[in-house]
Amino acid sequence: MSEKTYNTIIVGGGIAGLTSAAYLSRAGQKVLLLEKNSECGGLVNSFVRDGFHFDAGVRALEDAGIILPMLKDLGIEIEVVKSPVSLGIENEIINIDNIGSLLKYRDLLINFFPDSEGEIDKVIIHIRKIMKHMDVLYGLENPVFKDLKHDREFLFKKLFPWLPKFIFTVGKINSMNMPVEEYLKTLVKNTSLRDIISQHFFKNTPTFFALSYFSLYLDYFYPKGGVGKLSEALKTKITELGGEIKTETRIIEVMADKCLLKDQKNITYRYDNLIWAADLKTLYKITKTEGLLPKIKMRFEDTKSKILKYRGGDSVFSLFLEVDEPLESFRKIANGHFFYTPAKIGLGETHRGELNYLLANFETFEKDQILAWLDKFTRLNTYEISIPGLKDPDLVPPGKTGIIISFLAEYDLFDKIQKKGWLDEFIPEIENRVLRVISDSVYPMLKDKTIAHFSFTPLSIENRVGSSEGAITGWSFQKYMPVINKIQNSDRSVLTPIPSIYQAGQWAYSPAGVPMSILTGKLAADKALKQFRKIRSS
Ligand SMILES: Cc1cc2nc3c(=O)[nH]c(=O)nc-3n(C[C@H](O)[C@H](O)[C@H](O)COP(=O)(O)OP(=O)(O)OC[C@H]3O[C@@H](n4cnc5c(N)ncnc54)[C@H](O)[C@@H]3O)c2cc1C
Repeated sequence: MSEKTYNTIIVGGGIAGLTSAAYLSRAGQKVLLLEKNSECGGLVNSFVRDGFHFDAGVRALEDAGIILPMLKDLGIEIEVVKSPVSLGIENEIINIDNIGSLLKYRDLLINFFPDSEGEIDKVIIHIRKIMKHMDVLYGLENPVFKDLKHDREFLFKKLFPWLPKFIFTVGKINSMNMPVEEYLKTLVKNTSLRDIISQHFFKNTPTFFALSYFSLYLDYFYPKGGVGKLSEALKTKITELGGEIKTETRIIEVMADKCLLKDQKNITYRYDNLIWAADLKTLYKITKTEGLLPKIKMRFEDTKSKILKYRGGDSVFSLFLEVDEPLESFRKIANGHFFYTPAKIGLGETHRGELNYLLANFETFEKDQILAWLDKFTRLNTYEISIPGLKDPDLVPPGKTGIIISFLAEYDLFDKIQKKGWLDEFIPEIENRVLRVISDSVYPMLKDKTIAHFSFTPLSIENRVGSSEGAITGWSFQKYMPVINKIQNSDRSVLTPIPSIYQAGQWAYSPAGVPMSILTGKLAADKALKQFRKIRSS
């Protein structure tokens, strides 16, 4: 029996794939979205346990001039609230309310590092400069989501005046690409201070991206009902527009010359165009290129060897707590999105030199030595704490609070421990330590009031969304990236060596996150549509 042919098939029902599918359905294409899990959303997903609503992936959203314009353009309405951020070190916590809060941050740092006042002032000046660049970069609704042919007012009154500022800003961004750790070394001598400023960033985060976090703190918003409402709204839109979604369908082979896909049940699907909005290493591993033109095959093999060589970026460990204590007790301490460091000493070499040594000599380490390292790591780390109920009180049973505590975690450590056969023992060791550190410091009520807890590791992320090395924002930051990493070239980030295959999402462009995944989802949809129309008219 021959397969039904779709104009475009999208593999991966994360935020990127959902965006592509919504736009192509709106354009009247015959669209099929294939997702391996039973629900869509990928890393933009929420779930309920014992009446507590939790976010499985991203904790809140940054518009970045992308998310809200995309929703408006597609005619999707979701109710959102601000997601204010707090920052804390030991027993001092500040709320970030507006740009003026940068001074509160300065005072917080000076309070802990009085000898470094001059250096702190220099860092603050840099952050403020970058915030100004961010205002330019994100200050305009992204033109990709505007109807430039008909919206003349936007074109002439907003876009044209903005373009020279944008070009200037792009120059600035590109000149601040060095890893933030290196950059801070040029400004700050005190290693603890450097750690406190930067230890919650991904390894080698480009300076511009890292120091722009303060702008992002002011931009965060939260969909009522949980972050997953964004994915649900897109899914509903796709169906309304006539697009098809098939879940529990994992693609295991791409036969590029025949434009065919095969799933885990050996069912095949035929496409004119394919948008791959999932892990990119998987695409390159499972694509068969026999029958393609030699020139295309060569380019594919060349890209494949680059892609397979690179690693996914940092992953995360998340501890979920169900607590028998009202939201008010937590509201008095900090906002529902909280970056907290329980010890001002900072991680030092614990999460770089010592961890690298541990991983390189893993076989020689006893369990006790690894747990001793874990002790230090959990005491000195910075935690991202999210309390969904403080953003939307309907997300918890009355009088109770759900909390998500997470930190950046090294995939290889979990992988090696799993291979050694003691992961089930290791996970509670982490959970108990994190719970102890946080209840000994900022939330003492967790000690007696925690009813239940569970966690997700980097391996859970890899299993759930198929993300290489459990990465949560695509590629690790390295000098040479296997994908486009310059904003002015983002348009080309969705192309692959095979003309009928496009890529989208966190692996298509670096640095990525929700806004960039949405942007590449739209760019891939535009390219696929253009290609389809070109072929039809020829
Ligand atoms: C804890 C956490 C915090 C984060 N914080 C932020 C933040 O503050 N800001 C920010 O911008 N971003 C943040 N992110 C990152 C952001 O959530 C992701 O970068 C983004 O959601 C990626 O979307 P995506 O569609 O590209 O990929 P994914 O969400 O990974 O979607 C890919 C989809 O493809 C499916 N799939 C995979 N393989 C196959 C296959 N073979 N066949 C069929 N389907 C397949 C997967 O199941 C998944 O649904 C965070 C992520 C996490 C986990």
